[in-house]
Amino acid sequence: MIRIQQMKLKPGHAPEAVEEKAARILRIPAGQIASCSVAKQSIDARKKPEIWYSYVVDITLKSGDEDKVIRKCRNADVTRFTPVAYHFPGPGTEKMQHRPLIIGMGPAGLFCGYMLARAGYRPIILERGSDVQTRSRDVEAFWAGGPCRPDSNVQFGEGGAGTFSDGKLNTLVKDKEGRSGEVLRIFVEHGAPSGILYENKPHIGTDILSQVVRNMREQILSWGGDVHFNTKVTELLLDKGRVTGVKCAGGQVFPSEQVVLAIGHSARDTFEMLEQKKIPMEAKAFAVGLRVEHPQSLIDLSQYACEWPEHLPPASYKLTAQTSENRGVYSFCMCPGGYVVNAASEEKRLAVNGMSYSSRDGRNANSAIIVSVTPEDFGAEGPLAGIAFQRRLEEKAWELGGGKIPVQRYRDFADRSGEAKREKHVAADFMPCIKGKYTFADLKPLFSPSIRKAFLEGMEAFDRIIPGFADDAVCLSGVESRTSSPVRIHREADFQSQVRGLYPCGEGAGYAGGITSAAMDGMKIAEAIAKCYEII
Ligand code: FAD
Repeated sequence: MIRIQQMKLKPGHAPEAVEEKAARILRIPAGQIASCSVAKQSIDARKKPEIWYSYVVDITLKSGDEDKVIRKCRNADVTRFTPVAYHFPGPGTEKMQHRPLIIGMGPAGLFCGYMLARAGYRPIILERGSDVQTRSRDVEAFWAGGPCRPDSNVQFGEGGAGTFSDGKLNTLVKDKEGRSGEVLRIFVEHGAPSGILYENKPHIGTDILSQVVRNMREQILSWGGDVHFNTKVTELLLDKGRVTGVKCAGGQVFPSEQVVLAIGHSARDTFEMLEQKKIPMEAKAFAVGLRVEHPQSLIDLSQYACEWPEHLPPASYKLTAQTSENRGVYSFCMCPGGYVVNAASEEKRLAVNGMSYSSRDGRNANSAIIVSVTPEDFGAEGPLAGIAFQRRLEEKAWELGGGKIPVQRYRDFADRSGEAKREKHVAADFMPCIKGKYTFADLKPLFSPSIRKAFLEGMEAFDRIIPGFADDAVCLSGVESRTSSPVRIHREADFQSQVRGLYPCGEGAGYAGGITSAAMDGMKIAEAIAKCYEII
């Protein structure tokens, strides 16, 4: 196969232009091409206002003369390429006494279950929340002012935390084994658009993601797997240093010697149970901050040099800064054309996050601007100190907004009262786009002086990159506290805890950050089980 890198085409080009340009680069008639597929598509705006799509394209020839064509065209961007094919290991030889159990049906548990079911292991998935349809109704009712259901909310239920998300599917995880490609391929097989296979920043939005999750569940069932919703695991059953099964809230017991713990980062009661059971784990650094909203047109203007770009998706950004006190500040989970959402999972505690629909046509861009925090910030010791720290922040946010999302203009949060007004880019009447009830309130008491200072330094640094980023009228919402897991559950080289048979997995265990990396970690655990055990 021939790979062509850095092939540039103007936005709005016809689909057939890709193959025509590839033929020109290879100096062959288009008729000689047997297959032409886009491996990557990204936007090159380095010389804006001139903007290009940059492609990586894979070509096979009818003649099979790939090497000859590569030699003749003498172009450093044209090389031989062998694609990485994902391989799921064959079954091992150890006997399994009971079917494998998976706790949690977020991306990690879903993909672990999918891979095991596809290989014939008939896994049983236990999920504390509801199926995605029921869950969507519960979440909409919550955003309309109803109660926060402890087991059916933005964090818990079929599809996990990412279901009401922007559905960004990019990952920074290095992947020599082809797992990330396999994740995207499985998404496409179950209803996602094929563009995610090559887009540099693939995203599907909450609407498509919910449908994909449902289709994957149907597939798992058709392969002999089982899924139990509204089934919260409340106890791990252990015997002589190994797991023998789990007990659920209703008293039901599921025996199993292979238990995958894919509980996400918000299952605080489950972490407490794990601590009581002395499962080895430790507190880990994460990050906290506020959701920041700007008009999408401001971001488009800074990235594309025009406010309403034709043929281009709404622009995104990724920003990082190091503060004078050596804290990292960075943008996280940026949602172009999206909404801020109330992502609480506990009563009288409030956390925010961001989501979008596949069209990304909301009028605002939002992103978390977060400051790194370490166990030194937590004000306590022990593996669950980070959870206690999160809870304090979320209680404060709930109080500040009287149960609604507290929102504040940047001018007031930065205490610029004595300074000249800065309304250069964002109009004074700019309003937030929020799913859930919100109210204007003072967010300053949320953080320690050190965290607030770091946040403000970051905002000012980002304003120098995106003019208007720290304008007076920019809206902040709090609190962004569920950025990654505050806990790491130890696992050994064979992916098991020191408690044998227990497989910590995904974001909650500290081995992933985001939908795709959590899904990839789920696949790794499925592979580890398949390598050892016979199909049951
Ligand atoms: P989770 O998705 O958290 O899943 C864990 C599951 O375990 C949950 O369904 C929970 O109900 C279940 N569970 C927990 N305890 C128990 C128990 N005791 N018994 C039974 N079941 C249990 N990431 C991206 O990559 N792109 C995005 O655009 C993006 N946007 C996001 C937007 C929002 C609003 C949120 C909240 C998150 C977003 N994320 C995004 C992060 C992403 O959702 C997570 O990284 C990912 O879901 C982690 O997957 P996981 O399977 O490890 O855990």
